[in-house]
Amino acid sequence: MTSPAYEADNIFAKILKGDIPAVKLYEDDDTLAFMDVMPQAPGHLLVIPKAASRNLLDADPAVLGGLIAVVQRLAVAAKAAFDADGVQVVQFNEPAAGQTVFHLHFHVIPRHEGAILKPHAGGMESIDVLKANAEKIKAEL
Ligand code: 5GP
Repeated sequence: MTSPAYEADNIFAKILKGDIPAVKLYEDDDTLAFMDVMPQAPGHLLVIPKAASRNLLDADPAVLGGLIAVVQRLAVAAKAAFDADGVQVVQFNEPAAGQTVFHLHFHVIPRHEGAILKPHAGGMESIDVLKANAEKIKAEL
């Protein structure tokens, strides 16, 4: 079965266009990283390609190499910024797998031994906390 078509009005496309704000961490010609507004743990961030794809299933393979290199860089920075024991990198494809926003993205979540994650896409974090956490990560980039 083929993937459904990319829908250009998704929330991350709007962030890329600057139509809605995001607490940004890193940007280059092909990639944007920003804080997740409903973090499952402090420092939870998202890395997205600027190229349009619904998820990994329809992504241009040429995009993925540069994208995963940025995921790695942000994962290293987030682990250091939060003195984490580990980092979870998560990526969902289609609603059955938990995807709720239909523009390819990787979650990067600092993890501490024994700390339980908040629910996926649960409560909104305050903008001040997101900005403070973003500064910690940017200091490690
Ligand atoms: P998915 O289930 O598609 O992998 O996860 C989408 C993620 O996007 C969720 O973790 C959710 O908290 C996050 N999210 C949803 N809307 C927004 C938004 O408007 N801004 C930001 N920065 N994150 C969002």
